[in-house]
Amino acid sequence: MHVFPFQPNYRELFVGLDALVPQVKGGLAPAINFDNAATTPPLMKVMAEINQFAPFYSSIHRGAGYKSVLSSQIYERARKTVLAFVGGLSDLNTVIFVKNTTEAINKLSYRLWNPRKKEVILTTWMEHHSNLLPWRDKYQVDYVELNEQGGLNLEDLEQKLLHYQGAVKLVAVSGASNVTGIMNPIHRIAEIAHRYQARILVDAAQLAPHAAIDMRPHHSPEHIDFLAFSAHKMYAPFGIGVLIGPSQVFEQGNPEYSGGGTVKFVTKDQVFWDDPPHKEEAGTPNILGVVALVAAIETLRSIGMKTVYKQEERLLNYTQKKMEKMTGIELYAPLNTPRIGVIPFNVVGMDHEEVAQALSREGGIAVRNGCFCASPYVQKLLRISDRELGNIINNPLLPHPGIVRISFGLYNTLEEVNQMLSVLQGIIILEQRKTKLLSNSVKQGYTSKTFSYYNNNI
Ligand code: PMP
Repeated sequence: MHVFPFQPNYRELFVGLDALVPQVKGGLAPAINFDNAATTPPLMKVMAEINQFAPFYSSIHRGAGYKSVLSSQIYERARKTVLAFVGGLSDLNTVIFVKNTTEAINKLSYRLWNPRKKEVILTTWMEHHSNLLPWRDKYQVDYVELNEQGGLNLEDLEQKLLHYQGAVKLVAVSGASNVTGIMNPIHRIAEIAHRYQARILVDAAQLAPHAAIDMRPHHSPEHIDFLAFSAHKMYAPFGIGVLIGPSQVFEQGNPEYSGGGTVKFVTKDQVFWDDPPHKEEAGTPNILGVVALVAAIETLRSIGMKTVYKQEERLLNYTQKKMEKMTGIELYAPLNTPRIGVIPFNVVGMDHEEVAQALSREGGIAVRNGCFCASPYVQKLLRISDRELGNIINNPLLPHPGIVRISFGLYNTLEEVNQMLSVLQGIIILEQRKTKLLSNSVKQGYTSKTFSYYNNNI
C-alpha cells in the first residue's frame, strides 16, 4: 500500500464530494471529479452564506426598505472584496458584475470597439473561444505563436507589436490555459504590451481559482489593465463573473445592453447614462451570485492562494510523473513550465471520447474530452494541418480530433489520483490486448466478425 505524506484535508469544506454514483460493476461509489476546469462544486461556506442571506434578499439600488438597503450595501461592498482578491486599486478600477468570463470579454470587446476603425487585437493560439470570437467580428485579429512547450512565444509577441507600429489596442491573453494548464507570464507580457502602447486583458477564468493574482498599481509597467473571471470555476456556482478595468474606459460611450439600472435619467429623446459600473450592469443584479462569490473569496483567502497553488501543484506533479512512466500514454504539456493542475493526454490508439467514457464507466471518474472550446490550440497540440482538419470537418464519418483532460480542484487527493491511474492502466491493457488480437486475427485471416464479437464481449 502506498503511504502518502501528510495531506491537508480540504474535502470537508465542499458540498457533495461523498455523493454516490452508480458503477458499471453494480452498486454505488463516490464520484471522483477531475473536471474542475469546466466547473467546480460549491463550498460549504458558499451555501451557508446563501442560506443566511436569503431571508434578507431584496432588490438592489431600487428600494428604500431595510432589506433593499442591506442588499445594496452587500452588493456594493463586494466590489472591494473582489478588487482586494486580485490586487486591484479601488480608486482607479471599476468592478463590473457579469454572468461569467464569456460575458466579461464580450462586454470589453464592445466597450473598446470603434466601429469607424478596424483596430488590431493581438490574441494567442492558446485561447479559449471566449477570448477569440468576441474579437473576431469587430477587430483585425492576429495571434501570438506558441513556443516548444505549448506556451507563448514572447519574441513573436514583441515582433507582432513592432510590426503593427503602435496600432495594437489590446493584448488579450489567458492567465492559464484550460487545455494544458500552462500559466502565461502575464506581468512580463503586460510590460511588453505597454512598451508598445497596448493594453492587456487577462482571461483569468483558470487562473483566479488556482493561483494568486496581483493586478499591480497602474504606474507599474507590469500592471494588468483588464481582468475577467467566473465564480463557478472557483467554488461559487451561482451565475456570476467579473470584469475589472479602469473606470475611465467605461465612462465613455454607450453600454452594449441598455435598460433598467444603467441610467441617471431618461427623457423622450435623451439618455443620461449612470457612472460605471452601474451603466454596464443592465437589469436586476445577481445579488445571490455576489454573496456566493464573496464567500468563496473569503475561504480561498483564508487558506491562502499560495497554499492552494502548492496543493494542486503537488497533485499535478505526482500524477503526471506517474503517467509519464505508463506506456501507451501521450502527454501534451511538460512539467518544466509553470502550470495549474491540468493534464491533457491521449491513450495511443484510442479515441479521446472512448477513454473519457471508460474512466466514467469503470471508475466513476469524471474527466473532459474533446477540444475544450479551444479548437485552434488543440489542433496545434495534435499537430493537425489546416488541410487535414478541413477533411475531418467535411467528413461526418471521421471522428473529431481531441484530447482527454484531467483538471484538479483544491479538494482532490492523491488517493483519488491512484484510483484513476489504476483504472486508466486497466483501460490501456485492455486496449493493447484488443490491438494484439486484431493484428493476430488479421495475420490468421479471421474476419472482422470475430473482432466485433470480442469487442462486444469484453
Ligand atoms: N476562458 C477560459 C480559459 C476558460 O477555461 C473558460 C471556461 N472553460 C472561459 C474562458 C469561459 O468561461 P465561462 O464559461 O465561465 O464564461
